[in-house]
Amino acid sequence: MSESKLTLDTISSLAKRRGFIFQSSEIYGGLASCWDFGPLGVELKNNVKGLWWKHMVRMRDDIVGMDSSILMHPDVWVASGHVGAFHDMLIDCLNCKTRVREDHLENGKCPRCGGSEFTEPKKFQLMFKTQAGATETGKMDIWLRPETCQGIFVDFKQVQAVSRKKVPFGIAQIGKAFRNEVTTKSFIFRSREFEQMEMEFFCSEAEADEWYEHFKQERWNFYLNALGIHEENLKWEPHAEDALAHYAKAAVDILYHFPFGWQEIEGIHNRTDFDLKAHIEHSGKDMTYHDQDKNEKFIPWVIETSAGVERSVLVSIIDAYAEDEIGGEKRNLLKFHRHVAPVKVAVFPLQKKADLQEVAKPLYKALQERWNCQYDVAGNIGRRYRRQDEIGTPYCVTVDFDTLEDKSVTIRDRDTTEQVRIALDQVESWLLERL
Ligand code: ATP
Repeated sequence: MSESKLTLDTISSLAKRRGFIFQSSEIYGGLASCWDFGPLGVELKNNVKGLWWKHMVRMRDDIVGMDSSILMHPDVWVASGHVGAFHDMLIDCLNCKTRVREDHLENGKCPRCGGSEFTEPKKFQLMFKTQAGATETGKMDIWLRPETCQGIFVDFKQVQAVSRKKVPFGIAQIGKAFRNEVTTKSFIFRSREFEQMEMEFFCSEAEADEWYEHFKQERWNFYLNALGIHEENLKWEPHAEDALAHYAKAAVDILYHFPFGWQEIEGIHNRTDFDLKAHIEHSGKDMTYHDQDKNEKFIPWVIETSAGVERSVLVSIIDAYAEDEIGGEKRNLLKFHRHVAPVKVAVFPLQKKADLQEVAKPLYKALQERWNCQYDVAGNIGRRYRRQDEIGTPYCVTVDFDTLEDKSVTIRDRDTTEQVRIALDQVESWLLERL
């Protein structure tokens, strides 16, 4: 699908119609930038997270996982610099009164009306504040975490000790993060509540550049090989030295070619020893690493990979979207990579008749042991195929009247629509080879 034709509206209405993603609290008019994932959306999301976990934790001997609390001691966010520095500069357009981020002006003009006169910029804290504790006097102001990595930094010593890992090694986590974003368009691209997949790799300063290059390559390959994204829709964007975050020595983003332009989907950062140093200073606890082999003590440097789950979900849908024509009939489909497809196989008895269902049901039950499958008896077979094409199911298996005689079924391929006849007892192994 060419980028000029595909709009975000096409994607968001398909996502809604087919049960991937809905507006949160829609019956009350919705809440801006908060989204609910429906039956297919949650499968897709779990596949994305599962793939990340597989590649970043399970398949590696030098990275371990953890799951830290969303609510943390408020001093964490003072030490990390977020209380002092995590804000956007906002301005109001004097013409249309829209509030915009100063860095989101388009050539100095209001992105809504094109006006060029604004109020003075004001600081806007991006962290959500709340209170912990039941009594008025015992209440403590706390923040909803705006990133997951601080949970990794503050637990660095404990995780290192219990996992008996030596530096260099990494700690990975997937979890919710919250940002009171001002710009809230672009569907799930910029949400106020979202999930991050972050990995912090602890190493010596001398090895930091090498690990930075290693993880750049790993993360690029993840989008290509694990999510199956088209390479021409990805590009690198290094941060200019004068635009680096306060903690970073080097940083690069992976951008995707969205219908609304090139935008970040992941950042890879050399965070130096900034975070551990800051937590040592603020907590007064020793977080230095003792290298027993060299008998050296040092504060490790950190290479971070930070990706958003929702952005990977959105990219997976956009990149898979296609339209074609089969036998003079138009169809739209999601050509999901087999890893991310929320439903892997659909099983159809040709008709509702009991003798067909007696074969189709047990086959469906057996395939469910391995994959997320759907069973569909409603409507003519062509319509059932279209429904599965639109949600990106790679294979449909049909039990027909011949099956009762020859004990074989038809398997149809989503992308080519080609059909093959396979013996019933070979269906699982045939699918296993391809999925
Ligand atoms: P942006 O410039 O788009 O606001 P950022 O540079 O602030 O992003 P980071 O702080 O580097 O983002 O966060 C790492 C990753 O977390 C991003 O690459 C993105 O995938 C994801 N992310 C950040 N903010 C959001 C958000 N509001 N909604 C969804 N995902 C987000």
